[in-house]
Formats: sequence, structure tokens, C-alpha cells
Amino acid sequence: MYDVIVIGAGPAGLQAALSLGRMHRSTLLLDSGEYRNGPVAHMHNVIGNDGTPPADFRAKARAQLGAYADVRVRDVAVERIEGEVDDFTVALADGTSERARRIVLATGVADDLPAVPGLDALWGRRAFTCPFCDGHEFSDASIGILGASDRTAHLIGMLAPIVGEITVFGVGEAPDPAVVGQLERASVRVHPVPVERVEDDGVQVVVRTADGDIAVAGLFVAAGSIRQRAPFAEQLGLQVLPSGAIEIDEFGRTSVPGVSAAGDLAHRATLPGVVASVVMAAAAGQMAAAVLVQELAAEH
Ligand SMILES: Cc1cc2nc3c(=O)[nH]c(=O)nc-3n(C[C@H](O)[C@H](O)[C@H](O)COP(=O)(O)OP(=O)(O)OC[C@H]3O[C@@H](n4cnc5c(N)ncnc54)[C@H](O)[C@@H]3O)c2cc1C
Repeated sequence: MYDVIVIGAGPAGLQAALSLGRMHRSTLLLDSGEYRNGPVAHMHNVIGNDGTPPADFRAKARAQLGAYADVRVRDVAVERIEGEVDDFTVALADGTSERARRIVLATGVADDLPAVPGLDALWGRRAFTCPFCDGHEFSDASIGILGASDRTAHLIGMLAPIVGEITVFGVGEAPDPAVVGQLERASVRVHPVPVERVEDDGVQVVVRTADGDIAVAGLFVAAGSIRQRAPFAEQLGLQVLPSGAIEIDEFGRTSVPGVSAAGDLAHRATLPGVVASVVMAAAAGQMAAAVLVQELAAEH
């Protein structure tokens, strides 16, 4: 019986395990190897690690966890969680199971990209979604935005002070004329026909449309969506917010006693959505762990 099983070893789960290990709480960290920034070559906006490859960041964090005898790491997917506070059982994909008094869910979210041929191959390398993470690398450059929606205007507002020219492309269908008028008034070019495919020519991104090709330095995707990476919110009957994220309180606790959540998969009801970043995820992991340490200390 572990004190805590942490499910997920991105920044949220790694930090939770570190905090628990430093407090000598027996901890099992489980990882299926599916990271949101898996395809990303360099992460940004992470103090002390601006430009670090996410894989190096995770490898260093895991190596540092090795110094804590109370933390065990297993690379195996979790399939099911059952039980209640002080006695949870976690069923693993290799047929074994593990037990713990508390659970930290840090399984993140997955990005569902719009169905544009070629986009998957560019994701995290030349196609992005977050201006804080990847906008500065396109300073003064010509970029494209895939999708003409409310999110497009929001992205333009953030990217306009950074990039040079912005071209908006419709996805699936031609951009809505009302949105086109709005964007053109903001001096943004809107391509009149939808994207057929996107390609990396080794130097830039070529956006192919029936009306001709346009080359841009990179793409931002306004037309995607996110979903919970793992099925545990549903399995455990956790309260879920309109954003699709698990609801947590100020201390990282979910609606089910003994189950905490940290990182991209959860936020407080006072926020419209999660602030998805490595630093925020790590901070949430630390909060969840610190509160569980207090709870366990009160029980001995
Ligand atoms: C293209 C892109 C670029 C980004 N760039 C940046 C950037 O530059 N800077 C920045 O701060 N943020 C960036 N982000 C956001 C950042 O990646 C996330 O905010 C961060 O990874 C969230 O951490 P997390 O620990 O919540 O989830 P994740 O990092 O996604 O980790 C989830 C963990 O859960 C595990 N898991 C999932 N299901 C199971 C299961 N069933 N069993 C066991 N384990 C499971 C996974 O294997 C993984 O270990 C970027 C995001 C994207 C999509």
C-alpha cells in the first residue's frame, strides 16, 4: 500500500512525485509515455529552461527523483482506478495492480487537430497553438492561422505585436464572410478558399489551396480542440467543468475524497479554462502533493 499513486509523469506528475519523495511519503509514479508536448523540440517560457527540449527536461527530472528512496517509477499505463480514500486499487495494462491511500491524477489532455493533411507532421515543430510558448520564435515573420473563429481574433490580438504578416486560412470550408470582414478591418489577410494540405519544404511551411500556394514561416491552429487523455474522470465520477476539465479546489482536490488532480487536465471553477503551461502544471503538482502531505500527516 503506497501513500500516494501519481498517474502521469509530465511536469505536473513529476513535481508531485518530487514533493512527496522529499517528504518521505511512499509514492508510485506511473507513466504511459504520452506527453502533450511529446513532438515539441524546444519548450519556452519556462524559467531556467527556456529552449530546453521537453524530453531532456523530463529525463533530468526522473534522474533527480532517483535520489529519493520513497519514489518508485513504472512505465506502464493505468487502465482502471477503483476504491475509496485510504484504499484505492489501480489496475495496470500489464495485468498487475497497485494500491494507495491517495491518488493524484496528472494525465493531461490530448489535442484533436483539424483534419488538414500534413498538419500532424508539423505539430509542435512548425505548427503550434500557444503564443506564449512559440510566438517569439516568429518575430517579424509571416505566419498563417488555421481556422476563422472567435479563437482566431484572440490569437491575432496576442500575436500582432510579435509577428510581421498574418494570413488566416479556412479549414474545411471557406471562412465565414462576417469573420472575414472583421479580420480585414484589423488589417489581417484572409485567404478566400480553404486549405487542402500543409507541407514543410525544409525552410518554411507551404499552405496548399485550390487557389494557389502560400508560404509562411509557421502556423498557429485556431481550429483544434482538447480532450482528457485518460478516462479516469468518468470512471471515478469526478465533477467536470464546462471546459471539459476536472474541477479542483484551491488545494488541487477533486469532488471525490482522496483523489487530487494537477496540470492541464484540471482547473478551478473560477477560471474559464486551464492555463496550460509547464510551470503552471508543475506548480499544480506541487500544490496537490503538499496538501496530501498535510492530510496524511494529520492521520499519521
Ligand atoms: C505543441 C505544444 C507546444 C507547447 N509548448 C509549450 C512551451 O513551450 N512551454 C510551456 O510551458 N508549455 C508548452 N505546452 C503546454 C505543455 O505541454 C503542457 O501545459 C504540459 O505538458 C502539461 O503538463 P501535464 O503534466 O499536465 O501533462 P502532460 O505533460 O501531457 O503529461 C501527461 C502524463 O500523463 C501520462 N498518462 C496519460 N494517460 C495515462 C495513463 N492511462 N496511465 C499512465 N500514465 C498516463 C502521460 O504518459 C504523461 O506522462 C505546449 C503544448 C503543445 C500542445
